[in-house]
Amino acid sequence: MNKYVLPDLPYDYSALEPHISGENMQLHHDKHHRTYVNGANQALDELHEAQQKNDFAKIATLERALAFNVSGHILHSMFWQNLSADGGDQPQGDLADQIERDFGSFPTFKNQLIRAASTIMGSGWAALAWDPVSSGLITIQIHDHQSETSQGSIPLLVLDAWEHAYYLQYRSEKTKFFEAVWNLWNWEDVTTRYRAVYGTDLSLSHVTQDGAGLRSSLRA
Ligand code: MN
Repeated sequence: MNKYVLPDLPYDYSALEPHISGENMQLHHDKHHRTYVNGANQALDELHEAQQKNDFAKIATLERALAFNVSGHILHSMFWQNLSADGGDQPQGDLADQIERDFGSFPTFKNQLIRAASTIMGSGWAALAWDPVSSGLITIQIHDHQSETSQGSIPLLVLDAWEHAYYLQYRSEKTKFFEAVWNLWNWEDVTTRYRAVYGTDLSLSHVTQDGAGLRSSLRA
């Protein structure tokens, strides 16, 4: 079975300064993200061992560890790609149109995402996600790395709201961190992700009012 690996950052640790300090980035990537990669591989190994012994006494614990660590690995890997020293400003083209359609305006979307990040109780993430069933963008507030997500939704842009993401630099002023990342969003990356999932079909178009017709009319 394939192993999860810690990806290199697509930029230097200090590249996102002053918005995210090099020290904070290094700790976040090299220590925290690495822990989730190791945890994901360990959970897979232990599940494999349980299969071989046909002994599933610890299955619930292992499933929880797998969901937590794999989700942590995926979200961090996406977060690094979502950021760029050349980022910021606003998306253009089809993603901009979709945001306007689903949130009313870019400032409303920005406010909604920041509010979602700021009001997490404990640890979690705020994310912009594509819901293939309604064919629309939604924001989600993820607890830890894996809870309270909408099934089937696909994250496109993720904002880490764990204390480890900002505390070294911003201390208790987390909202300053949630504002600062808007100078860094790599909209090219988010647009690529949006286009890749736009046509995702969960074969559930019959559970929305407009169904598949909504997608085809948008495409036209
Ligand atoms: Mn993190």
